[in-house]
Amino acid sequence: MKIYNSLSRRLEEFKPLHKNKVTIYVCGITPYDTTHLGHAFTYIFFDVLIRYLKFKGFNVIYTQNVTDINDRDKDILQRAKEQNTPWQDLADFWTKRFLQDMQVLNWTPPDHYLKASEQLVSIIRIINTLLQNGYAYKTGPSVYLDISRFPEYGKLSKFTKKQMIKKAEEFDEDLRNPDKKNPLDITLWRGSLASHSSSGNASGNVVPDHIPSFDSPFGPGRPGWHIECSAMSMSTLGQQIDIHGGGRDLIFPHHEAEIAQSEGATGKAPFAKYWIHTGQAFYRGQRMSKSKDNLIMVSDLLKKYSPNAIRWLLLSRHWSKDWEYKEKDLQKAQRNMKIIESDSGVGRSLDLPRMTKIQTREYNEFIQILDNNLDTPKALEFLLRLTKKSPELFKSFYEILGFTL
Ligand SMILES: [Zn+2]
Repeated sequence: MKIYNSLSRRLEEFKPLHKNKVTIYVCGITPYDTTHLGHAFTYIFFDVLIRYLKFKGFNVIYTQNVTDINDRDKDILQRAKEQNTPWQDLADFWTKRFLQDMQVLNWTPPDHYLKASEQLVSIIRIINTLLQNGYAYKTGPSVYLDISRFPEYGKLSKFTKKQMIKKAEEFDEDLRNPDKKNPLDITLWRGSLASHSSSGNASGNVVPDHIPSFDSPFGPGRPGWHIECSAMSMSTLGQQIDIHGGGRDLIFPHHEAEIAQSEGATGKAPFAKYWIHTGQAFYRGQRMSKSKDNLIMVSDLLKKYSPNAIRWLLLSRHWSKDWEYKEKDLQKAQRNMKIIESDSGVGRSLDLPRMTKIQTREYNEFIQILDNNLDTPKALEFLLRLTKKSPELFKSFYEILGFTL
């Protein structure tokens, strides 16, 4: 099987670090809003990748996180403050909604689904290691990653320093914090009583009620977003992993920081052998985002369309490319579903060892399509041709792609 690796920027033969075992970490949601189609695109793609790897006989272990706390004042904390709701309640509510939406889409839940707020021990452990190794430093109540210690910083994004600064600004990376040696240094631990905050407000000596604060050897505070993923990946999957995934917008600074943190802490490279990044969803010509107010929510689509039709739409786009949501494409997917479900009926799956010669040829063709960078759009076209010809084989393939009959 060949898969495109963002680290090498090449289509590479997939070969896990350990013979038959595949470890995979995919960055999860920040739970303060419902699941939009961009999220579903990423998580359904990884769902199919994992189903396919399992079908090929790999033993897959999959971790995904929930960023219910981080070093930022916006997102979840801002929403909790606006709604006068404890951040924990807001996070629990939206995490449940996300899981419900994904369950309806027939998503296989990860083996480890971890909330950052419950992983403080492993997060503090890795920050301590980075301090001891000299890759991190403490100024006042906060701890930062010293990126000058990483000559390879930028190996994933291939960004120039100017590009890094621009992107870090978009991500609100606290560039003007005078406690940092270098504006691009990464916040590992944000002390509760830091005089400087990412929003530019001085927080003084009292921690406001709506701000989470945890005890640590560095003083009370909360972890940075990027270090959370390094810690949760390591605590569940080990020091090096096979696949690290997420949306393409996470390449810098999030994934670049994860590489530096993880490789700095363990001394082992690569932290992740394959970096797999999904394309972005667009609507009305602009990237789907809260700030553009153009989010398409999965829960709204489910009122009108079947889960299979939504899955079909998502898989009809190549995972590596940006795509534009148009309702007419979902209507077409729904029509395809009707044809398929009436043609194929609820037959049994194929007994693979007992395939006819023609079935074997079709089986090989399907495998070839998916082995080529998991080309699901092509696989769906193939399925449409197969429904009438070989309903049993069709059903087996349909299940591999996560559809339900
Ligand atoms: Zn992450």
